[in-house]
Amino acid sequence: MKKLLVASLALAAAAPAMASEIVVYSARADELLKPLTQAYQKKTGTKVTLVSDKAGPLMEKLKAEGKNTKADVFITVDGGNLWQATQAGLLRPINSSVLKSNIPSNLRDPKNHWFGLSVRARTIFYNPKKVNASQLSTYADLANAKWKGKLCLRTSNNVYNQSLVATLIAHNGQAKTEQIVKGWVNNLATTPFSNDTALLEAIDAGRCDVGIANTYYYGRLLNQKPSVANNVKVFFADQKGKGTHVNVSGAGVVKHSDNAAEAQKFIEWLSSSEAQSLYAQNNFEFPANPRVAVTGNMARWLPSSFKRDMINVSVAGQNQQKAIMLMKKAGYK
Ligand code: FE
Repeated sequence: MKKLLVASLALAAAAPAMASEIVVYSARADELLKPLTQAYQKKTGTKVTLVSDKAGPLMEKLKAEGKNTKADVFITVDGGNLWQATQAGLLRPINSSVLKSNIPSNLRDPKNHWFGLSVRARTIFYNPKKVNASQLSTYADLANAKWKGKLCLRTSNNVYNQSLVATLIAHNGQAKTEQIVKGWVNNLATTPFSNDTALLEAIDAGRCDVGIANTYYYGRLLNQKPSVANNVKVFFADQKGKGTHVNVSGAGVVKHSDNAAEAQKFIEWLSSSEAQSLYAQNNFEFPANPRVAVTGNMARWLPSSFKRDMINVSVAGQNQQKAIMLMKKAGYK
């Protein structure tokens, strides 16, 4: 009898661990998520399999696989991409008091198809040998002729810039935003860069006085080459107005997941204090959970106390097409 009880207890303990496996389609770098999936696996016994690619191909894969998909969780960057996935019907709403408590309402889908898990600011960087911080103020001010030949931008086909412009449209309307973007184009020091790191390096090298980039690229660059801090500094835009544009990386449960409960638990865990600092700070992002503090080098390079634009990040998706058209019309390549 005793033996039988022990055996059945062992079975009961082993059964959920064996039954649980989730597949995560991830547009994030493997080295960012691996420490988290391993920690989760160790803690819960749930095996987490990562399938990594860029956001676009992963969404196409989810569409093509439909009901036959093995995916349970979709993780990607930018409210614009998460909004696209929702529009395409690839995600299902999550009803989770844990996620609602951990993630502020502006950093999640109003209909709960996805939740932000880390925050990045897209803001102004400048070379302090050429520019005094007192000369800087807003994204709109970078359209002022005083920056002629001094501004650097990344290409407009990048979702981060589409999301920034989409948000400017929400705040300023189309006509004013078009003026701003035209002003930026007129002020360019050189043709737009294909990535944020190249742009920051150009500021470091003195080729541009000011530019717009995501904060975590600055963190990464400083981590590799601390001397960059002498030539490139962060300026949080619009502090007297709406606040600096922030965006997220985030996750949702795949519509045709056959393990939605486990998928939800994993996303809930990613929003917890335990996972948040690891998830965010591995990539020099800010935690999305406001109860988690920024520490270490990150806090020194990228203070988290700036005023953030509180508009819901899904506006990046809602206005994405308008933003793309507007940038094209303004001659922003
Ligand atoms: Fe990025």
